[in-house]
Amino acid sequence: MQRLQDRVAVITGAGSGIGLATARRFAEEGARVVCVDLDEASGPAAAAEVGGLYVKADVTVEEDVVRAFRTAFDTYGSVDVAFNNAGISPPEDDSILETGIDAWRRVQEVNLTSVYLCCKHAIPYMRRQGKGSIINTASFVAVMGSATSQISYTASKGGVLAMSRELGVQFAREGIRVNALCPGPVDTPLLRELFAKDPERAQRRLVHIPLGRFAEASEIAAAVAFLASDDASFVTGSEFLVDGGISGA
Ligand code: NAD
Repeated sequence: MQRLQDRVAVITGAGSGIGLATARRFAEEGARVVCVDLDEASGPAAAAEVGGLYVKADVTVEEDVVRAFRTAFDTYGSVDVAFNNAGISPPEDDSILETGIDAWRRVQEVNLTSVYLCCKHAIPYMRRQGKGSIINTASFVAVMGSATSQISYTASKGGVLAMSRELGVQFAREGIRVNALCPGPVDTPLLRELFAKDPERAQRRLVHIPLGRFAEASEIAAAVAFLASDDASFVTGSEFLVDGGISGA
């Protein structure tokens, strides 16, 4: 029996990076995976690869989020895991003095409001079942800030962390665990895009990671699979750091 055998798992941002690696890992562990992504090329490709279902959705749009969870339930009969992971990188100059209000709002919409919407529409299914695991992707910057000036991004991830703690406490007695995943820097298209804008930034970041390298997306996926599974039955409301030691350095 595999750890996630027949669990129905909805993953947002499943077309790339951490979401894609987690879709693969969940499928390996026996889950039925619903791949949610805005991107109509990578989303269906991910679903095809893991033998799952693709739902095109913009996670900032409530009707899309409702449709994603309803499709998962209607197709497979439950919603056991929600990995609310879709996110965007900060705008080019994301210092408090430079970030414009539109850029700030966009980052909050995609990184934070989306998590509010996904939790809001996943929890009713889990409540009826009396169980469920929600994993929301925050970031190590939510616990330690960032010296590289990414105020809208850091604030959005701090919000994800606080929301996850509150929901973890609030729904614990109903069998729903909610955790914030806090990855350190991970080698994905999002990170590469960020470093392409500022190549020296990669080197500056690297020296602060005690393990001396960026994470592979599969290493983050392993932690998500743990949080999704019954192996994490006593873990809720946590800030789950998978960061190569960066927050402790
Ligand atoms: P990525 O860019 O590789 O993948 C993000 C995916 O989300 C893409 O497939 C994209 O199409 C999708 N997406 C973006 N906006 C969407 C929307 N509105 N609706 C639906 N789908 C949308 O990024 P990644 O590095 O895998 O990041 C995943 C999450 O991890 C993000 O929340 C990110 O902030 C967080 N994170 C990443 C790192 C890192 O170093 N890569 C570190 C800490 C946290």
